[in-house]
Amino acid sequence: MNIDLSHRRAIVSGSTAGIGLAIARGLAAAGAEVVINGRTQARVDEALQLLRSSVPRARVTGVAADLSSAAGSADFIRQVPEADILVNNLGIFEPKGFFDIPDEDWLHFFEVNVMSGVRLARHYARGMRQRNWGRVLFISSESALQIPAEMVHYGMTKTAQLAVSRGLAETLAGTGVTVNSILPGPTRSEGIGGFLASLAQKEGVPVEQMERDFIAEHRPTSLIRRLATVDEVASLAVYLASEQASATTGAALRVDGGVLRSIA
Ligand code: NAD
Repeated sequence: MNIDLSHRRAIVSGSTAGIGLAIARGLAAAGAEVVINGRTQARVDEALQLLRSSVPRARVTGVAADLSSAAGSADFIRQVPEADILVNNLGIFEPKGFFDIPDEDWLHFFEVNVMSGVRLARHYARGMRQRNWGRVLFISSESALQIPAEMVHYGMTKTAQLAVSRGLAETLAGTGVTVNSILPGPTRSEGIGGFLASLAQKEGVPVEQMERDFIAEHRPTSLIRRLATVDEVASLAVYLASEQASATTGAALRVDGGVLRSIA
């Protein structure tokens, strides 16, 4: 299958590292003009350099904006008024027991993980509807369906993304705009990978063993029994952004290594 996105402009939120950076790379390699985003200009510049060195003909630009606030999103939108493909990748996580999560954390997680995507979709999906072509993706998580007891607030935001995604797909029924969610499982991004690498160093064990132990202890239903790579997640995102994926909408697709046991 030849995926050609050379006439499309894509935005990937929170894409200076991890899954977002890999999605930006995949979209750029498929020919799209890609706008990346992070909070600081230094991180954005570093990521742009990485993208240009790994995809020689990449058409990439970047916007430094904190998308966790309405003002940050408005600033981003002012700089990039239109897009054909929107990947709502930005998301934060932090293990914390239910009884220790204060109101501020619930609200902050909702603001970053849910409202960043709502605000961007509310703006960009209008233009997509007018042009009768568009792709909106929400990077949710298997944690949307299998709520982790060690971070219920994170799970709440990931389930909320599925609701927003399905609801927006319903809103855009009959148009050429598709809206889908992706449910990754544990993935070797900067967040998780970095956390396990530093834990491995502290305990003096190889990082591979630390990753295997993490999966065995925290995600025992994994069928691949390893972390996924960011590129494995990005491949699904690039497909969903493609012309070829035009009949897939309103769906929640997994790239979770089989962690979720339910079939439907
Ligand atoms: P990461 O922490 O590796 O990267 C996050 C990116 O977001 C970085 O570029 C960071 O600079 C940027 N960022 C953070 N806060 C920001 C803000 N306020 N404004 C703009 N940019 C900001 O993350 P990741 O692990 O690659 O996760 C990406 C998405 O995938 C998230 O939505 C996460 O919930 C989801 N996910 C990750 C995993 C996993 O195991 N890594 C599993 C399931 C789902």
